[in-house]
Amino acid sequence: MDAFEDTARRLREAFSSGRTRPATFRMAQLEGLGRFLRENKQQLQDALAQDLRKSAFESEVSEIAMSQGEVDLALRSLRAWMKDQKVPKNLATQLDSAFIRKEPFGLVLIIAPWNYPLNLTLVPLVGAIAAGNCVVLKPSEISKSIEKILAEVLPRYLDQNCFAVALGGPEETARLLEHRFDYIFFTGSPRVGKIVMAAAAKHLTPITLELGGKNPCYVDDNCDPQTVANRLAWFRYFNTGQTCVAPDYVLCSPEMQERLVPALQNAITRFYGEDPQNSPNLGRIISQKHFKRLQGLLRCGRIAIGGQSDENNLYIAPTVLVDVQETEQVMQEEIFGPILPLLTVRSLDEAIDFINRREKPLALYAFSNNSQVVKQVLARTSSGGFCGNDGFMHMTLASLPFGGVGASGMGSYHGKFSFDTFSHHRACLLRRPGMEKINDFRYPPYSPRNLRV
Ligand code: NAD
Repeated sequence: MDAFEDTARRLREAFSSGRTRPATFRMAQLEGLGRFLRENKQQLQDALAQDLRKSAFESEVSEIAMSQGEVDLALRSLRAWMKDQKVPKNLATQLDSAFIRKEPFGLVLIIAPWNYPLNLTLVPLVGAIAAGNCVVLKPSEISKSIEKILAEVLPRYLDQNCFAVALGGPEETARLLEHRFDYIFFTGSPRVGKIVMAAAAKHLTPITLELGGKNPCYVDDNCDPQTVANRLAWFRYFNTGQTCVAPDYVLCSPEMQERLVPALQNAITRFYGEDPQNSPNLGRIISQKHFKRLQGLLRCGRIAIGGQSDENNLYIAPTVLVDVQETEQVMQEEIFGPILPLLTVRSLDEAIDFINRREKPLALYAFSNNSQVVKQVLARTSSGGFCGNDGFMHMTLASLPFGGVGASGMGSYHGKFSFDTFSHHRACLLRRPGMEKINDFRYPPYSPRNLRV
């Protein structure tokens, strides 16, 4: 028997007792989560700074405020989300009551990565609580400071018979996955996503996979290069490029490349100063392993901007690569760091072919002053999400589902989509016990008379 066995039994008993089902219980837990965020804000910011040297601004907008926003939305909307959803009926069920009931799955496992270690743990947790589940949270072992707060402080704000935090890396998570869960929500790499999916298959456990990949960004000739460069630099170097929806590479004409490089240099200097290593607004690479990997990618193409690195400090400068070949390593893996390759194409059609030859990305971006160009990219490609003329702003809307397609994942969440993801949609029909006469036509022995009714 492993250590988790006891926790699983405690949580399952709590779920079976029905205590997580009433709206009042769910709201009390969500309020607890909100208090956790408010009362520990400074500690959370410090932990994010320790793990990723995240600036207070980036910690606030992309981690703390976003999690708080999801808590507040769930608190405001919970009763409406929980309502049975009436559905249209056919002739034979006119007198009955037909509806979809959103019921909790039971025991849910949430596995999170290190790059937004708070947001990607707590935002799914909001959905799982709102839907009435018991939850085991498995934060990333790599973002250690946040992992510690989640393990030591968060449980004080939640009912510990219903919610638990499991710690550990690949080995411990693999052991955890041997247990039976009723739903698994995984955010991380496609490689580990396959391991999680295989483990879930053993128990036929439904899953959501929020994965990564290479997000393309098409820049049309009909653009203001400085506006594009400001937006591109902001969302490529935000969180030091360690963002699943960051633009992974740019496709543009050779002429646009010529104009984009100085504009990107302007934006980088404006955002991070002459020496970005001294900027308080640029974070650091999470670990030595990722630092080494990114250093290797700096050898691809030709460095047009940046390229400096400092291992002692896990620093990699905001970098732009040009003359990159499709076959080079930087185009073979998700970059997940502050490196932006520009690849040249001769036309919109060539860019679209390039995108469609690859796995479906989590996000896709297109910049043009001509809305028809943006609409063409949208219509002729597929991706988890899409944003025209900007970077990841689409994912700041809780009214849009956030998730991948194909190799970038399956399922989605945020706002009500989270509630729906963590709920089983139970098809219900309540019939009357009487009026048996009207059922006569369906009973054997069958004759042409049955069909005439
Ligand atoms: P990862 O897949 O290495 O790890 C994610 C989680 O899985 C961690 O909690 C880790 O402990 C666990 N894990 C690692 N190896 C395991 C194994 N062999 N067996 C079982 N569990 C294991 O991902 P990461 O490096 O933490 O995060 C980066 C990746 O996550 C990138 O690919 C990125 O695109 C993706 N990501 C996706 C989203 C999204 O919303 N779609 C968001 C953030 C990050």
